[in-house]
Amino acid sequence: MNYVPKPNDIAGLIEADRAHVWHHLSQHKQYETVDPRIMIEGRGMRLWDAKGQEFLDAVSGGVWTVNVGYGRESIADAVREQLVKLNYFAGSAGSEPGARFAQKLIEKMPGLTRVYYSNSGSEANEKVFKMVRQMAARHHGGKKWKILFRERDYHGTTFGALAACGQPQRAAHYGPYPDGFIEVPHCLEYRNQYPDAADYGLAAANAIEDVILREGPDNIGLLCLEPVTAGGGVITPPKGYWDRVQEICKKYSILLHIDEVVCGMGRTGAWFGYQQYGIKPDFVTMAKGVASGYAAISCTVTTEAVFDMFKDDPSDPLSYFRDISTYGGCLAGPAAALENMRILEDEDLLGNTTRMGERMMANLHNLMERHRAIGDVRGAGLFCGAELVADRQTKEPMEEAKVAAVVAHCMKEGVIIGMTNRSLPGLNNTLCFSPALIATPDDIDQITGAVDRALTSVFG
Ligand code: PLP
Repeated sequence: MNYVPKPNDIAGLIEADRAHVWHHLSQHKQYETVDPRIMIEGRGMRLWDAKGQEFLDAVSGGVWTVNVGYGRESIADAVREQLVKLNYFAGSAGSEPGARFAQKLIEKMPGLTRVYYSNSGSEANEKVFKMVRQMAARHHGGKKWKILFRERDYHGTTFGALAACGQPQRAAHYGPYPDGFIEVPHCLEYRNQYPDAADYGLAAANAIEDVILREGPDNIGLLCLEPVTAGGGVITPPKGYWDRVQEICKKYSILLHIDEVVCGMGRTGAWFGYQQYGIKPDFVTMAKGVASGYAAISCTVTTEAVFDMFKDDPSDPLSYFRDISTYGGCLAGPAAALENMRILEDEDLLGNTTRMGERMMANLHNLMERHRAIGDVRGAGLFCGAELVADRQTKEPMEEAKVAAVVAHCMKEGVIIGMTNRSLPGLNNTLCFSPALIATPDDIDQITGAVDRALTSVFG
């Protein structure tokens, strides 16, 4: 593709950004010596920055979001059509795209019936936490109020979500946090926490039960987990893990919340990651891929049994879910989500994800044979990781600066890849790949080719 965007006044643009924009998750000292990068345009898998450099995006907008790729005019048209017809009304009323999208979504999620709209993954998760606390207060006599989350999982940036954060550097310094958020151990088989276990998946799940017994099962209302841990290191569950986790939830009447903010909408090759592992959740939250970044939308999806707990009780003015998200009523979100879902279906992007995911994993395994710095590769669909180690025998994690050097080398070559999100002290050593679900074999080979050259350049 020979497309080169031509922004006006590049120097002015960069100076305006440098002077006034506070970038997300960024240390800014670097901009004293280098220009901040400003992304200008995108088409399919490719992006161009203000200086005209072209990139192949292997991380769908940096944070696994743009599932259907850049430049989708049909989504822009659907959003425009909706906005000129009706842009907004508060979510206390229904809407045309809201009702249609909820119906289509629920068709894909057997067992779940209700969709609550808001704007971000964090917000969708906060809704679950609030629902759990309200059910505890109204239906469980103050019990069942504690919320379990897992080491290395991430659920967002707001206070409740950060209280449920398994990544220490994300949460550090922002507390104190609300009470009753309890961490359970992670399940990364490669970093074997249960060396004596005959069955790793079982041992990792049983570790959750230990925490439940310690905290008192009557106190635990919710277990919140990512189906595949994303920023915490692309951690796919060990065999047998999810079956046992569900048994435990059932045994102690704990609701199971699956955070599909990253995995949802095809990323793993299924509509939702939980469906690949036979999970029957009580809550599912989703955001990023729901509208592929064309509009802000997130959903908290739950069962009729949970919904019924909030039906108004004339004797109790506090019985209903007293929550609103102003922009949960912006109709650009569901309009974009409807068209996004149509594209995923009509272009068989789930099938493509499975096929291209297999190719990506095969390529990564191939790299692992030739580069000793790769200690483990793992993935589900177009959601893959390669963990770098200083020593394959001891599995000592590769130092962060060297992992960052691999990412930087790819970037210089025009391929954007990611790494563990710099919030796990000593464990920011996993390269992350989550290209748009439209990726072709050539795209996949180009991505792993760049990684190959980067590994050779950094490690020889
Ligand atoms: N849940 C998971 C698994 C995520 O990875 C993220 C963000 O990366 C969130 C929730 C928070 O989503 P948002 O940034 O839209 O609030």
